Amino acid sequence: MPGDRSRLRNPGAAPVASFTLHGIPVSRGIAIGRAHKLAPAALDVQHYLVAEELLEAEVRRLQQALAQVHVELQTLWNELPKDAPTELGAFIDVHALILSDPMISEEPLDIIRTRHYNAEWALLTQIDELSAQFDEIEDPYLRERKADIQQVAERVLKVLLGTAQTLPAATGGEDDFQAQMIIVAHDISPADMLQFRDRSFIGFVTDVGGQNSHTAIVARSLDIPAAVGMAGASTLIEQDDWLIIDGDAGVVIANPSSLVLEQYRERQAVAARARKKLNKLKKTPAITKDGTEITLLANIELPDDCAAAMEAGANGVGLFRSEFLFMGRDSRIPSEDEQFEQYKRAVVAMKGRPVTIRTLDIGADKPLGQSEQTALNPALGLRAIRYCLAEPQIFLTQLRAILRASAFGKVRILIPMLAHAFEIDQSLAMVEQAKAALRERGEKFDEDVDVGAMIEIPAAALALPMFVKRMDFLSIGTNDLIQYTLAIDRVDYEVAHLYNPLHPAVLQLISMTIAAGHKAGIDVAVCGEMAGDIKLTRLLLGMGLREFSMHPAQLLSVKQEILNSDLARIMPQTRKIMRSMEPNVIADAVEQLQLM
Ligand code: PEP
Ligand code: MG
Repeated sequence: MPGDRSRLRNPGAAPVASFTLHGIPVSRGIAIGRAHKLAPAALDVQHYLVAEELLEAEVRRLQQALAQVHVELQTLWNELPKDAPTELGAFIDVHALILSDPMISEEPLDIIRTRHYNAEWALLTQIDELSAQFDEIEDPYLRERKADIQQVAERVLKVLLGTAQTLPAATGGEDDFQAQMIIVAHDISPADMLQFRDRSFIGFVTDVGGQNSHTAIVARSLDIPAAVGMAGASTLIEQDDWLIIDGDAGVVIANPSSLVLEQYRERQAVAARARKKLNKLKKTPAITKDGTEITLLANIELPDDCAAAMEAGANGVGLFRSEFLFMGRDSRIPSEDEQFEQYKRAVVAMKGRPVTIRTLDIGADKPLGQSEQTALNPALGLRAIRYCLAEPQIFLTQLRAILRASAFGKVRILIPMLAHAFEIDQSLAMVEQAKAALRERGEKFDEDVDVGAMIEIPAAALALPMFVKRMDFLSIGTNDLIQYTLAIDRVDYEVAHLYNPLHPAVLQLISMTIAAGHKAGIDVAVCGEMAGDIKLTRLLLGMGLREFSMHPAQLLSVKQEILNSDLARIMPQTRKIMRSMEPNVIADAVEQLQLM
């Protein structure tokens, strides 16, 4: 029964059967908390948990909205023209009846009180349950009444949205109600993930998704344990079940025994101690044992992430995924001024360190709106620079905004998904066009702003002279480079086992890119997820990589690995790896690298 808190037992007491699910690990660490199931519709509205002392106020907010809709329906009825069809009056009557029924007027209030959901979320949760019940009704007339219930709910939601509160700040204490929640959903889009950023949900579990889907990337950037590709999780796990996420193994244990729980608490404590130790490295420069300095940059989704980047001691921002400013908005495209303010915030927050702003990389698993999802094969479709060149006004607006931010600190422009010379040339021409427009307006910007290319399509890695001749720097997007080299959708958990960064073809393309960049005298970074994986740090160092860009949360672990690395020993072993085409030989040799 929804909202029945009698299920809330102590973890370990486990009167309910324990079971384990296996999926794909996407964000490390261990989380222990209660399941918080998200119905698909609930993702369309804000959802947050309401503090105990504010529950009755939230209940009143919903009661007031219900009362207001009553008045609206009454007014509609009173104002019906005399010649209106009788069905119209009947419809209003049905809606008024639905509104007064306890299933709408009382159940959602219970959900607020027992589950601490905000009013909108409580209402939608109840509507989802009712809709599921209606779907099972055989009588087609009655089944159709589902639409009436949804229409009534929409009326109430509209009123609620007018009185919506801003989200409460997360408190995050150990015993805090909200701090123990683990989100369980069929799927969460990257845009939906944005709304979890300020709250202290402690983990995510989804039925679908891949290791390097953007949802997984955002989970990693939030630095909370997550596992995806957990087929069936959202049906097998019940609301309020106690869960352990083992984010390193991609395992979720539901209703664990006391013994299992104790073991995981112990592992959590060990991890916390290791993290404390790492924090001491914040101010230490990243220099290998034999004296080579490495640049460690941060990947960010929003300007607010700069705080975490500075906190981790990043040398700058290597990848600002600007598309997150465009996602989850009603009015869709942010204006030049709005974008400028956000870019400027990031630049100012980084206090003189370079900020690499990647131009809009929309499409595939980051659609701007629902319409883009209908593309035949989104990952191979009108994505990133292809979209920007097809929508020059959107691209020019963004370029002007980025250029204006360059008046406030070091900015670099990074263009995603380039494959063709004409795409590079058109992009550079548009940068010049944006500069000309700003000059005409008398706006300040950095005339010498660097423009670089993401190398994330195999064609680009195989045609590097075309790039180094035209571009100021390169940044290797290993997430897409792996996706396109191995022809596997990074979002599809059914092919996730084929997603292998150590495939010899992938290693060759990365190594070639680093070498070509250095030969041409331009900077090369890796900004895909490989850069933050400590198991690969030495391999990349051995290939000659000197710039790593990753989530701030991974930066200190990578730094520690660098501090313990000796290039003189790593380089010969890496050359051996690069000569091999045998997966087992490569995997073993990469393991050996860790021990050197
Ligand atoms: C990449 O493809 O590796 C990358 C960094 O870009 P994104 O993950 O945003 O596609
Ligand atoms: Mg990419």
